[in-house]
Amino acid sequence: MKKIFEDIRKDFPILSRTIYNKPLVYFDNAATTQKPKIVIDTIAEFYSNYNANIHRGVHYLSDYSTQATEKAREVIKNFINASSVKEVILTKGTTESINLVAFSFGEAFINEGDEIIVSKMEHHSNFVPWQLLCQRKKAVLKVLNFNSIGELNIDELYKLITVKTKIIAVTHVSNALGTINPIEKIIEIAHSRNVPVLIDGAQAIQHIKVDVQKLNCDFYVFSGHKIYGPTGTGVLYGKKDLLEKMPPYQGGGEMISKVTVEKTTFNVLPYKFEAGTPNYIDTIALAEAIKYIEKIGIDNIYNYETELLNYATERLKEFPEIKIIGQAPKKSAVISFSVDNVHPSDIGILIDKMGIALRTGTHCAEPIMQEFNIPGTVRVSFAFYNTFKEIDLFIEALKKVLLMLKK
Ligand code: PLP
Repeated sequence: MKKIFEDIRKDFPILSRTIYNKPLVYFDNAATTQKPKIVIDTIAEFYSNYNANIHRGVHYLSDYSTQATEKAREVIKNFINASSVKEVILTKGTTESINLVAFSFGEAFINEGDEIIVSKMEHHSNFVPWQLLCQRKKAVLKVLNFNSIGELNIDELYKLITVKTKIIAVTHVSNALGTINPIEKIIEIAHSRNVPVLIDGAQAIQHIKVDVQKLNCDFYVFSGHKIYGPTGTGVLYGKKDLLEKMPPYQGGGEMISKVTVEKTTFNVLPYKFEAGTPNYIDTIALAEAIKYIEKIGIDNIYNYETELLNYATERLKEFPEIKIIGQAPKKSAVISFSVDNVHPSDIGILIDKMGIALRTGTHCAEPIMQEFNIPGTVRVSFAFYNTFKEIDLFIEALKKVLLMLKK
């Protein structure tokens, strides 16, 4: 198993570069993942040989690009097991997907006094759009808290849901704590009260097999760049009957059926939500990223990354001054930690000089930091191309950094 994953590194050109003359150790995968050669090559190949705007041309190149884009949509649909391509809206990322739902679902279903539930461990992009919606509609935002090890207080959910609850938006995996949330249970509870659920899959889709029909979620969103695809790509999965009832998010080309001076009628799904020239070449490359990881096998990825997570967690125990923030038993390959009397960014800056890329700060999840009463954390996040040897290098570098900071 380990051998397969070490060989995989050669598929990622950036991993063989050095930083400050040291081999790059890239532990910032929760922020964005590196790209395999097939993704980079697909982008170059398309711009070199096939580029033409999609959906509105009769010429060869336009037709080719259109078909490739729709095939990419089909790949995404199969990957998440949506029942139809109509339910797969192409966006520029998780943030745009959530904003789309918050606006459009909000226009259709949210009125003054209605309630929306999010959790306290959401990334700002699954928090702020709902806050904005609540301000716009005079609705109420309710927050599901988590316990000291970073698990959602699921029992509280029963009390939070009322007849006024219109939607629950919750993350599948926390980007700052690593917790894998029991979304099946959350969906079951919500549906027993007829409340739809949006799942933010930004930190799950690259690690865990997602089957939207089996989950029975109403919306599932993710970003292409976190699953080894290009930046500026993303997906909104939504159940057809809900999407049909929601008004368009943006107006423009392609989302219309007919435009007259007096009135516009709208295109069918999924195009109703895809105004303007989409990021089609990057979406085609995203489909290549998905095919690439499917070949490795998402379950193999999960198992290997769990081994990395367990090994790194164990090695961090060598530091009595380190506290791991987020110790839920079910975790994805993310470790956040704080160090007594040391600011996280000091660690980040010094360790960078040793070729190690990790992230420090609040990770766009300030309510989590407020709950723990800390300014931020140091976060290492793994991908399947990381190795045990890299974890050893990181531990040695961390020892040096902490020695320097304590002098
Ligand atoms: N949700 C979670 C859990 C995330 O980790 C992130 C990014 O880190 C986002 C949403 C936002 O993703 P993007 O910036 O790609 O839209």
